[in-house]
Amino acid sequence: MERTFVMIKPDGVERGLVGEIISRIENKGLKLIQLKLIFASPDILENHYMEHRNKPFFKDLVDSMKDKPVLAMVVEGENSIKLMRIMVGDKDPLCALPGTIRGDYAIETTKNLIHASDSRESAVREITIWFGDIL
Ligand code: ADP
Ligand code: MG
Repeated sequence: MERTFVMIKPDGVERGLVGEIISRIENKGLKLIQLKLIFASPDILENHYMEHRNKPFFKDLVDSMKDKPVLAMVVEGENSIKLMRIMVGDKDPLCALPGTIRGDYAIETTKNLIHASDSRESAVREITIWFGDIL
């Protein structure tokens, strides 16, 4: 069974969209197997977003999320990685289709509500960063 890492970012938690987003995941038929609300440290965020460390938006991205509550999850199900990416939608809400989470609830790339792993390698890496080796 495939597992992916999903995170509701601080803007999603702040706007009270946790219930709505979890409902979508559960209604799709995917299963939550780990869930925690935590204050994201700069270290964990820098590690999580390592691939973007040389991008111009990296510092603002980490600063905008650090020490704020995020909901970290491990989601399980057949093709869960691809399915979650489709449900999340494009990172730029101007390109995210209606029916996707970002398409329905976000208007800015810097406040696009949610993260989901983009590959098997990322999923393993990110689950370990946020939940340790327990899985
Ligand atoms: P995704 O979250 O869909 O995997 P990326 O991995 O490309 O997208 O980017 C990670 C996150 O970095 C995005 O969700 C967004 O919050 C932020 N980001 C990406 N590109 C930009 C940009 N050009 N300007 C500001 N923030 C950005
Ligand atoms: Mg990404």
